[in-house]
Amino acid sequence: MKKIGILGSTGSIGTQTLDVIRENKELYEVVFISGHKNIELLNRQSLEFKPEYVVITDYDSYNKTKSMNFDATLLYGMDKIISLIDKEKIDILLNALVGNIGLLPTYTAAKNKVVLALANKESLVTAGHIIMKEVYNNNSVILPVDSEHSAIFQSLQGNDISSVEKLILTASGGPFRTLSKNEISNKKAYEALKHPNWDMGRKISIDSATLVNKGLEVIEAKWLFDIAPENIEVVVHPQSIIHSLVQYKDSSIIAQMGRPDMRLPIHYALNYPDRKPIQLERFDFMKYNQLTFEAPRRDVFPGLDLAYYSIEKGDSFPTIYNTVNEIMVHHYLKDQIGFYDITDTIEKELMNHRRIINPTIEDIIALDKEIRERLE
Ligand code: NDP
Ligand code: MG
Repeated sequence: MKKIGILGSTGSIGTQTLDVIRENKELYEVVFISGHKNIELLNRQSLEFKPEYVVITDYDSYNKTKSMNFDATLLYGMDKIISLIDKEKIDILLNALVGNIGLLPTYTAAKNKVVLALANKESLVTAGHIIMKEVYNNNSVILPVDSEHSAIFQSLQGNDISSVEKLILTASGGPFRTLSKNEISNKKAYEALKHPNWDMGRKISIDSATLVNKGLEVIEAKWLFDIAPENIEVVVHPQSIIHSLVQYKDSSIIAQMGRPDMRLPIHYALNYPDRKPIQLERFDFMKYNQLTFEAPRRDVFPGLDLAYYSIEKGDSFPTIYNTVNEIMVHHYLKDQIGFYDITDTIEKELMNHRRIINPTIEDIIALDKEIRERLE
């Protein structure tokens, strides 16, 4: 049995991880789960999967749990998450927290040689230079959960990264793919949340509409696969069947495909290097008789080029890109700002940023806090 810890078990990735576990309960022992505000769901998960520990990171929500029966040791706060990663002997940690709040868990896993199934891309975006150093120094393992990175990881099996010419990340293009800038500028959050192919958490759904998600993924790919950003290309593929591709130096391209269902990359990460059976709907070629490709519209969706700019600048610039985005998405979800205010503000903040050279984890957390205090 694999011992597993799940951070963000109440979210979109978290619940799908538990779906995968539910199907093969004999393979896994859930040691701990964490949630923030959704304590009713966390409670049901606790009674069903019987983890030893349940961590709640929102204080008011934690206080409300006093009258509830979790049948587990209830803990409060990020410190407790860190000490569980430190002390519990787990085989794999799945980090499905949303946002840069996932940074310390990712870093702790890399430092302590805990195998990490990583959905939380934001932590690699802001601190990839530190986390990957820990991974290499300690021989730790990060298994990507993000579908594009899982596809690349799968397409790299058996080949050396030195034989790769470029990585090709596919993007659905989001719900506004075909609209004009004018039309998009008036779109409200509820419209941006209607993703054509994927059912995801609210933050990443907005990121998909702005293409900031693809920008974050370019930076994530740079760190995960140790490849220069100029060798990472983005291709819009509206059907989301080809999840990403690797082009080798002999011109051959290897891709991974399948129906858009996050349970597949989750299942692959949990069982790597094995391919265990799972009851997911199989791909039907006749339902998709056309797979199409387009160039991303960089002028309409400036979020993509801003990511290349941030990672080229390096150091603390990707933290600006990520954290300003997190805050602006939060405002947009509350209908407080317009669609283009998200990327306009990222651009403005990047242009005004004074570089912190080779930022430490503490520097990144302090910078993240400073931006939040200023823009929230
Ligand atoms: P969700 O918003 O659905 O879930 C986020 C989880 O984090 C929930 O369990 C939530 O708890 C918890 N959480 C929220 N805020 C905090 C906080 N301040 N402190 C601690 N925990 C918190 O997000 P997703 O599952 O969609 O995304 C998770 C990560 O996976 C993101 O980095 C995203 O980019 C990535 N990802 C997601 C994909 C998807 O299909 N959803 C695909 C690829 C990557 P609660 O709900 O109890 O408040
Ligand atoms: Mg993705």
